[in-house]
Amino acid sequence: MTSARQYGALLLGSFFCAGGAMAANIVTAPQGGIARWAGMAASECGIYGKRYPAVDAVCYYPVDMRGKPGTHEIALWDQDGKQHLGSLRAEKAEFPSVEMELPESLGRFLNPSPEEISRASAERGDIGKILGGSVDEHAQFSLPLGKPTATLPKSSDDFGSERVFNKEHKSLHSGRDYPVGPGNTVKAVADGTVVLAADHFYAGNSVYVDHGDGLVSMNFHLESIAVKAGDKVKRGQTLGKVGGTGRATGPHLHIGLRWLGKRIDPALLFDNPTTLPSVSDTHAEAERKIEKAEQREPDESDTPVDED
Ligand SMILES: [Zn+2]
Repeated sequence: MTSARQYGALLLGSFFCAGGAMAANIVTAPQGGIARWAGMAASECGIYGKRYPAVDAVCYYPVDMRGKPGTHEIALWDQDGKQHLGSLRAEKAEFPSVEMELPESLGRFLNPSPEEISRASAERGDIGKILGGSVDEHAQFSLPLGKPTATLPKSSDDFGSERVFNKEHKSLHSGRDYPVGPGNTVKAVADGTVVLAADHFYAGNSVYVDHGDGLVSMNFHLESIAVKAGDKVKRGQTLGKVGGTGRATGPHLHIGLRWLGKRIDPALLFDNPTTLPSVSDTHAEAERKIEKAEQREPDESDTPVDED
């Protein structure tokens, strides 16, 4: 189900007119960000050699939080099947390194037993099979996504950070932590199929939902799980309750998103998609979006601990 249809290598030369003047189909997005191509009545989109359906006639191009900076060819097929080409410049983002102390009660996460090490490794194998999502399936979501809890407080601003636990154990944080109290209901952010629901060593009780079009959402550290693998869920349907299971210093909701397997900042898809950098942006619009992104203030509150 993860088999992406391949399309042939795009010709870089087609970005340039015969006279050498650059075509305008260019967009820039940071690591962990998403670029957008609207206004062309898109039916399908292409990047990284994958071809996948548009979302509400708009193409989205995710950049992994550790994706190599550089230029990627992007494609858009309109409703008449005509292919349009462009380029996405992936730029390096600045991610903080965060020092954290785990209390003694969580010592097993610093020095796991051989059994726990093989357990975590088996779990990583299970997760690896589903993170690519079902690219051939049409999107079962619109943007923005639904909120995972009734009220979604400001998250800690540590998406993409490298966490150093007790000075030696490193872990990349590929999601966002929302300070939601224990027992609160966690809801599906869109329609989809539960592809994994299990108690994992690091992430605790975890629910992964495949929303089609290569988008997978994940919820970690739940107190309890209300669904099982194979269940079809509707946007807003209960997946479980907020908790602090696994490697967490306290209850909170960890949300992660993968799109085409890329680790992206979940907060971007809870916001109006027109705020994403777009191919059609004028120079002034692009400057304004970059400025806005830079003004995001870091949260001073204590950061809960978790895996991924
Ligand atoms: Zn987290």
